[in-house]
Amino acid sequence: MPLDGKAPNILWVGAREVPLAVRVHPRARHIALVIDGAKGGVRLTLPPGVSVKAGLRFATKHADWLESQLASLPPRIPFAPGARIPLLGRPHLIRHIPEGRGGVWRRDDRVFVSGRPEHLARRVADFLKREAREAIAPKAHDLAAVIDRRPGRITVREMKSRWGSCSSDGRLRFNWRLVLAPEAILDYVVAHEVAHLVHMDHSRRFWRVVDRLCPDAAAARRWLAKNGNDLMRYG
Ligand SMILES: [Zn+2]
Repeated sequence: MPLDGKAPNILWVGAREVPLAVRVHPRARHIALVIDGAKGGVRLTLPPGVSVKAGLRFATKHADWLESQLASLPPRIPFAPGARIPLLGRPHLIRHIPEGRGGVWRRDDRVFVSGRPEHLARRVADFLKREAREAIAPKAHDLAAVIDRRPGRITVREMKSRWGSCSSDGRLRFNWRLVLAPEAILDYVVAHEVAHLVHMDHSRRFWRVVDRLCPDAAAARRWLAKNGNDLMRYG
């Protein structure tokens, strides 16, 4: 349950302000502080009946811990000329061609971006979302055909904390940042969501379908657990 309007969305940690998200969780039993690596911020979870004020006191009490956690986060990598971004896991250098035409294009291991510098970051993000969609949608259809299913609408978008999801009516959603991972990882996430077209749970039967669609699912899951947060740093 978000507490929009009632709780601050900024927290002072040491000498700086960081983004803060406060939530009440119906099953939480203790106040919990979690670092949000993607935002470089803090998530504060409250059990029902605990006031925001008490939560903030708890956060202040643990400011030193928060500060050291935030300081040890790997730096963000904004989309800017000279930045290296992994595209399907392979590093690509962003190059700005102010006089160029054609928006954004990829050649060899470079991503070229034309137009005004203030539009570059958004153009790269849009380009990556398109690339993600082009990589994911055909895979989803192909894998669904293997198990005799048809996916509903396939969407690729920004997702805060998940790689993909499958709704009960078969719509598939994917995190565009998967295009930054090696292709085998993307294959696994697509296989995982497609397998939900058969089983909506994470039962043993479900994992058997995943294994059928993606022989190296275990390795991909290990990769995501280790490197997934890293992909959130880009842009
Ligand atoms: Zn799942």
